[in-house]
Amino acid sequence: MAVKKAKAKKEEEVVVKEAPKKINPLARPIVRGENTIEDKLRALYQLQLIDSEVDQIRNVRGELPLEVSDLEDEIAGLQTRISNYSEEATALEEQVKMRKQAVKDANAQIKKYQSQQMAVKNNREYDSLNKEIEFQQLEIQLSEKRVKEHTAELAAKKQIIEAAEKTLEERNQDLKNKKSELDSIIAETEKEEKELLSESKKAETIIDERLLTAYKRIRNNVRNGLGVVSIARDACGGCFNKIPPQRQLDIRQRKKVIVCEHCGRILVDPAILD
Ligand SMILES: [Zn+2]
Repeated sequence: MAVKKAKAKKEEEVVVKEAPKKINPLARPIVRGENTIEDKLRALYQLQLIDSEVDQIRNVRGELPLEVSDLEDEIAGLQTRISNYSEEATALEEQVKMRKQAVKDANAQIKKYQSQQMAVKNNREYDSLNKEIEFQQLEIQLSEKRVKEHTAELAAKKQIIEAAEKTLEERNQDLKNKKSELDSIIAETEKEEKELLSESKKAETIIDERLLTAYKRIRNNVRNGLGVVSIARDACGGCFNKIPPQRQLDIRQRKKVIVCEHCGRILVDPAILD
């Protein structure tokens, strides 16, 4: 059995994309009948189809909560980014304002020194004021250089903020859509899932313990969750290996539990639910 299990896993890699044929498991009521092998096989096949539908519901729902939480993370990241950049932009604006004020102050100083120069008594005083003026002129040059730099930086930051805000808006819309999709899927499938689970329980009571355990074990070991498959085009519906004609005949007789010799899945007659 261990060898077969390993083999089943390997074959799974190849066949996992093949969707099982859609059959309504509840088209025929789940009944105990005379408790023959056929009854058990039928209930087992119904159980498989029910469980597959539950799997499908959970698969669809399974990805959405993850997508929603991924989006929420991305949105939180964008918001942090925008708020950091906005703070930096505000600081830059403050800097520009200060530097512009510094230019004004320096110009006022220069004017003051120039008028003082009119009233000086000697060359020494005149030169000393000249030095002050030169110093203020350097201050102006430096401040103007910084204003230019900060303004460019500010424009770049604002561009980043704008882009991030646009992305944020899109992500918020995505989130809203995904959330409502998830809500409606949950609302839509909750009832169906409950019903299927109750039918699944009912089918389980018809199947004996050993068969049920084998079914669950196989189901857990294969990626598509198929422990019971029907014959399809003379092959196993799980691994697609050909089934010899005599074996197919045995399966159609419904007198024994027959497993696929390649993948270990339980094989049933495709017409067992007719
Ligand atoms: Zn097989």
